[in-house]
Amino acid sequence: MASRKTTKPVKTATIPCPPCNGTGEVSRPVRVGRKHRLVGQQTGMCLNCFGAGEIPADD
Ligand SMILES: [Zn+2]
Repeated sequence: MASRKTTKPVKTATIPCPPCNGTGEVSRPVRVGRKHRLVGQQTGMCLNCFGAGEIPADD
């Protein structure tokens, strides 16, 4: 009986998350007040990939 090694290629089906460019973080504008005055930017977790930086690439 011959033991055969089956090496199947492991495809990483993930692509870098576009909104955060694979960083897992996105900087978004911070607005305050009723007029939503822009006061700066805040870095937060990317809600598209949930901080993973990559998203599954479905065919
Ligand atoms: Zn992301």
